[in-house]
Amino acid sequence: MSDLQNNIQKLEGYLTRFRESGILNQIDGEARPALSGETFETRSPVDESFISKVAKGGAADIDAAARAARAAFPAWRDLGAAERKNILHKIADGIVARAEEIALCECWDTGQALRFMSKAALRGAENFRFFADKAPSARDGQALPSPTLMNVTTRIPIGPVGVITPWNTPFMLSTWKIAPALAAGCTVVHKPAEFSPLTARILMEIAEEAGLAKGVWNLVNGFGEDAGKALTEHPDIKAIAFVGESRTGSMIMKQGADTLKRVHFELGGKNPVIVFDDADLERALDAAIFMIYSLNGERCTSSSRLLVQETIADEFEAKLVERVNNIKVGHPLDPTTEIGPLIHQTHFDKVTSYFSIARENGALVAAGGERVGQEGYFVRPTLFTHADNKMTIAQEEIFGPVLTSIRFKDEEEALQIANDVQYGLTGYVWTNDLTRALQFTDSLEAGMIWVNSENVRHLPTPFGGVKTSGIGRDGGDWSFEFYMEQKNVAFATGHHKIPRLGA
Ligand code: NAD
Repeated sequence: MSDLQNNIQKLEGYLTRFRESGILNQIDGEARPALSGETFETRSPVDESFISKVAKGGAADIDAAARAARAAFPAWRDLGAAERKNILHKIADGIVARAEEIALCECWDTGQALRFMSKAALRGAENFRFFADKAPSARDGQALPSPTLMNVTTRIPIGPVGVITPWNTPFMLSTWKIAPALAAGCTVVHKPAEFSPLTARILMEIAEEAGLAKGVWNLVNGFGEDAGKALTEHPDIKAIAFVGESRTGSMIMKQGADTLKRVHFELGGKNPVIVFDDADLERALDAAIFMIYSLNGERCTSSSRLLVQETIADEFEAKLVERVNNIKVGHPLDPTTEIGPLIHQTHFDKVTSYFSIARENGALVAAGGERVGQEGYFVRPTLFTHADNKMTIAQEEIFGPVLTSIRFKDEEEALQIANDVQYGLTGYVWTNDLTRALQFTDSLEAGMIWVNSENVRHLPTPFGGVKTSGIGRDGGDWSFEFYMEQKNVAFATGHHKIPRLGA
């Protein structure tokens, strides 16, 4: 039996229970259908086949989940940090134990290739371990003495929080948000993306098996404009951690205004990879290809604009075309596949619409630009050349395996092009000139920049974007800044003079 057939057979085993009983919400420690009894279907982008019915939660389910999270909050907040650490490590153990199931289900639900998803499941476990170890120091503060007072700061968890996640790498992103929230002492209501609900359910089960008290973590499936909106408007929910599109972030900000929600947004990007002629061009080529064509190009940090110096552009683009044409599109459960199908019809239509937009813009479709097969949402990895930065294909987030190549003359022009977009998530700079790298990174408008490297995540570092790419940072202590409130307590150190009125 081939690896692919073997994986399909294993997947069938994992899916049986979902097919039979559907994907339920989890509220106050109980698996429940939606209060309305309504469901929706999740289907695989590989062949559009039915995977499971999913509880279609709405405002009433969100209300029940938020109340459960509020009721569970004091006990979870006051639990000893060592115990919280223990439980989070047990969740990580549970993820490792079920990593294969998570990876296979994630691939089938999202179309992401197994070669990347098996690592994503394990990265989810690392997120829990990292924040488990940080839990005991979450409340630490500073001593700030004044001449008359000893000021002591501490941090307290903000309360029940809402976590809203997208479909591109749903498992990893859910752990990334939920782990620090729990480590900080917050309780959680999670609303996963409607297009990829499978692994959020598995993660919830792992958490409960690890001994999490009921109501600490609740799961409500449903649509954004319905369950998602209700979560952002709920008065018991003190903050919303959101990963998704920039315009959804803007809607959430409006929806949360009446209840003064604290928001943390990780949004879209149109990230430049800038290749100067003095760079190590072989490594630059590998990195540029990896950062746009891995994960189906459905990644916020993808290097979707290649800015290449004109002195090396012909040669670099020629090598690029050769490699892009060689990328293997195929079944996501085949371990040799590099690109799987896009998540769903609407997204497929959006991505493929840029093939004609590119031609209308006057760019050249140098590779790809067509669908693969007639079933499922497969597209060929695509490269647009002869583009300029004013074109739609250079300005809009396509969120697929599609790269736009733009030439530049010198540093000044490269910087001007790099910054001339609404987004500012990441940037990748390739040069061996140290002074240039220092100056360029200083002026590049991005929350995260890698020099002579692809995106390599290091959990203690801040992750997030500027401009319309986001608000706030994840990682290290930055995550706790979001999920916690600062408190200052001032103790008089002696008998300082207190103004006496009416004496
Ligand atoms: P999306 O904004 O359409 O949906 C994300 C989530 O928001 C889903 O759960 C959806 O149901 C919910 N939602 C939709 N409307 C809502 C509303 N009015 N109120 C509350 N919730 C609502 O995004 P998507 O298409 O699922 O994901 C792709 C986007 O996510 C891309 O733009 C990508 O760049 C971005 N992303 C960003 C990061 C990052 O770290 N910056 C990481 C991954 C993905």
